[in-house]
Amino acid sequence: MGLEAAHSRRRILHAHGDSSGAEVVRALAAAVRTAAHVTVLEGVIARDILTRDGVVTGVALHDIVNGETSHGVLATARVVLATGGLGGLFARTTNPLSSIGAGVALAARAGAAVADMEFVQFHPTALDPGQLAGRFVGPAPLVSEAVRGEGALLVNDLGVRFMTGAPGAELAPRDVVARAIWRQQQAGRRVFLDARASPGAGFAYRFPAITALCATAGLDPARDLLPVTPAAHYHMGGVAVDLRGRASLPGLWACGEVACTGLHGANRLASNSLVEALVCAGFVASDLKGTCAGAAGGSAVLRSAAAGLSPPGLANVTGLANADLAPIRALMSRCVGLERSADGLRQALARLAPLAANPTHPAADAALVGLLIAHAALARQESRGAHFRTDFPTPAPAAPRRAPVLLADVLADSAAPAATPYVTKIAS
Ligand SMILES: Cc1cc2nc3c(=O)[nH]c(=O)nc-3n(C[C@H](O)[C@H](O)[C@H](O)COP(=O)(O)OP(=O)(O)OC[C@H]3O[C@@H](n4cnc5c(N)ncnc54)[C@H](O)[C@@H]3O)c2cc1C
Repeated sequence: MGLEAAHSRRRILHAHGDSSGAEVVRALAAAVRTAAHVTVLEGVIARDILTRDGVVTGVALHDIVNGETSHGVLATARVVLATGGLGGLFARTTNPLSSIGAGVALAARAGAAVADMEFVQFHPTALDPGQLAGRFVGPAPLVSEAVRGEGALLVNDLGVRFMTGAPGAELAPRDVVARAIWRQQQAGRRVFLDARASPGAGFAYRFPAITALCATAGLDPARDLLPVTPAAHYHMGGVAVDLRGRASLPGLWACGEVACTGLHGANRLASNSLVEALVCAGFVASDLKGTCAGAAGGSAVLRSAAAGLSPPGLANVTGLANADLAPIRALMSRCVGLERSADGLRQALARLAPLAANPTHPAADAALVGLLIAHAALARQESRGAHFRTDFPTPAPAAPRRAPVLLADVLADSAAPAATPYVTKIAS
């Protein structure tokens, strides 16, 4: 079993050395393909959760394969969001760049509460695309914590180990290691993972997928220093749900990274997200069995836009898919990243609020999710887990543990960003 950051003992089982997630997806896809009661719509994105009288009535869809003409409505009283995380909002991320919190935007626009949005976890050791001259476009390849668990060390370009002063050293909690690397970078240093002595020659056997990734960059971990950088990796916040996976909007459930169950607190422990996704998806499935399947407005069928059912707001959907998010990513990394301050967060809010309030803008969803993060980060006047404020560098015992909010309140507040801590608007 593997040892990972902030774990006190070896307790992580990995599939095929370092491919647990791929194995979950393989098994799930195989099960879905053989399930006669599941209809799979590939190449289709959800653009809106439709509601009537505060209850879910369906989902507006857009077929990104066939273009703009092919949008429609799936009428249903029960929607489960499982749309993943939001690392793609930041300049450096291990996530697919398309992971921009689309599910959070869908739920928030439909009136569901979101929670813990400020808690974005940065993985300390992604391969640094900046030091690998264009050899990677897209997500920054992850060098798993398990590599440090097997003895790899962090050094800067002067050869100095800089984690020795922290409890746990290289295996201190993710936020501690990520901030230490960030501070080295801010001081002009480059940072490397040194796996040459340990795991050394055994690296390729223990970490075959990481070895292959490194080879793409022309690196051999048993021989070369690996240039690394922190990268947005996991979102502890999201659509606020209870332990049945129910959101505050009747008819909406969420599970996986898009959901905020609260189980990860402010700082997910390595390797806990797949377990949470699987267990909580089971809770959702059990709960769905006990609810009414009847769809408001008809049975659950996809009806085409030709039938006059295209909802308003979809006209610019092609533009949404093609939005240039580089300015938002740069802004988020600079002002809402590893270290935050009131000044930076206010700058971010001022830039993001007008975009978020305009649903026809190509970058509206990304701006909206960024706004929710920045707003929550400004309101939380303390440092806790993955949320670090340079102007409030310690935890405040009286700060709320979980603070669900509604988009309408955040938009109303964003013209004059809150200077005071959260008033919890919805009982959690
Ligand atoms: C490189 C890497 C390594 C990791 N390693 C581990 C690990 O070892 N252990 C661990 O526990 N966790 C790990 N994690 C975290 C874990 O993989 C994720 O938290 C988990 O995969 C999230 O699963 P999910 O089903 O919620 O979302 P995802 O797996 O991201 O799936 C979401 C799906 O929804 C689709 N989607 C999004 N928006 C829409 C829309 N509007 N309409 C239609 N479809 C949409 C996406 O295209 C995607 O297919 C890792 C993450 C990364 C990036």
